[in-house]
Amino acid sequence: EAKRQRDDKPRLFDPTQEDELEERLTLERELRHAIDHDELCLYLQTQVDEAGKTIGAEALIRWQHPERGMISPGHFIPVAEETGLILPLGHWVLQEGCRLLSEWRHAPELKGLRLSLNVSVRQFQQPDFADQVLSVIQQYDAPPERLTLELTESLLLSDPEGTIKKMQQLQREGVSFALDDFGTGYSSLAYLKVLPLDTIKIDIAFVRDLALGMQATPIAATIIALAESLGLQVVAEGVETDDQRLMLAQLGCHIYQGFLFGRPGTAAAFSSTIVKNNATDQANLLQ
Ligand code: C2E
Ligand code: MG
Ligand code: MG
Ligand code: MG
Repeated sequence: EAKRQRDDKPRLFDPTQEDELEERLTLERELRHAIDHDELCLYLQTQVDEAGKTIGAEALIRWQHPERGMISPGHFIPVAEETGLILPLGHWVLQEGCRLLSEWRHAPELKGLRLSLNVSVRQFQQPDFADQVLSVIQQYDAPPERLTLELTESLLLSDPEGTIKKMQQLQREGVSFALDDFGTGYSSLAYLKVLPLDTIKIDIAFVRDLALGMQATPIAATIIALAESLGLQVVAEGVETDDQRLMLAQLGCHIYQGFLFGRPGTAAAFSSTIVKNNATDQANLLQ
């Protein structure tokens, strides 16, 4: 009886390979369109210091699809990487990020803030990547010393020397680098030492278990100690609870990012929060 029921069920929702392929092709076509038609947007998520003061933001791409609504990068970045669309998409992110940084120069509350942009491996591996970044910086008259590029460990798998060269070229102009999702990929401590990095981001996976007192505690502790010994800053990703924040602070982490401090939101919402918080601080000072 149960078997017959199963057999009689329509198969419409069975994701066959064909369906998946078709979905990918559709996504690719629509993404191509999205890049040229202003459907992409950079959301910003605040990064705060120990006192809870915003020191910068990470830009996280969103796709405002006309019919499907907001699509998150986990869904379309892999497709963009496979199809090569990551190159125009990544270039758009650079432009939009530099435009924001440039805009912030003219607002007293925002001009000291840093902006972090995610860079995918394929984008970084373009031979002229560093030149592209510098020319976008120039085009928008953005302050390079406020820009951080987030890279992942997988970059080192193919061409460590080339990676280091490009990083050095950009670093000479003031651009900083963060190693994203640290601890989840291919980590070579030898390379960690020679990479011109400024920051390591502890992956959310190691932050998530912190309050539970699980095995993740020694991992977070080790990453923080490692960063300190290499003279690198540490940003903890995905901080959701005050317990996690406290434990990270005890371990010596100085910069935090996560829902506890704010969800990613529009650049306008980010700016107005900063301006509002500044006004509150001023008012408190005057009291
Ligand atoms: P990521 O760079 O490691 O970004 C952190 C992700 O964690 C973001 O997901 C963010 O929304 C999420 N997050 C932040 N705080 C919390 C928290 O407290 N709890 C939880 N559960 N999640 C939190 P999002 O925005 O979906 O981005 C996912 C990934 O997509 C990013 O991971 C990054 O690898 C990639 N990505 C996003 N924007 C871009 C981009 O402009 N270019 C490229 N190449 N990749 C991007
Ligand atoms: Mg990131
Ligand atoms: Mg990350
Ligand atoms: Mg991640």
